[in-house]
Amino acid sequence: MSRNRGRDTKPEKLLRKACWSVGLRYRLGSKVIGKPDFVLGRAKVAVFVDGCFWHGCPEHYKAPATRADFWLKKLQSNRMRDELVNIQLAAEGWTVVRIWEHTVKRDLSAAVETVLQARQASSRVPSSSAKAAFT
Ligand SMILES: [Zn+2]
Repeated sequence: MSRNRGRDTKPEKLLRKACWSVGLRYRLGSKVIGKPDFVLGRAKVAVFVDGCFWHGCPEHYKAPATRADFWLKKLQSNRMRDELVNIQLAAEGWTVVRIWEHTVKRDLSAAVETVLQARQASSRVPSSSAKAAFT
């Protein structure tokens, strides 16, 4: 939802900073499908921080009182887009990590841990280029 949330809203910045401080070297994902907040290029991990409102977090999403129909459709289309992005990224060999905005705010180290685990998991899967290099 790059139109709906700025590239540098606070939770995203917080998570990037924390990831950097544990030694993760990322780049911004603006050129990648779905525009992840950042990517670990070599491990092909795409990280999204999903806003509780825009992505319909089960804990914090409250439908606005006015224009309920509009907002419901908006949420549904955002979710559908998220799904599509997940599928497209996976098809290209990416590991997709989605972290709720509230997790970043509430437990930053848990959020960082999720990213670290995704990197580890994805580095265990030999990429096609690695295989090619050994044959
Ligand atoms: Zn939430």
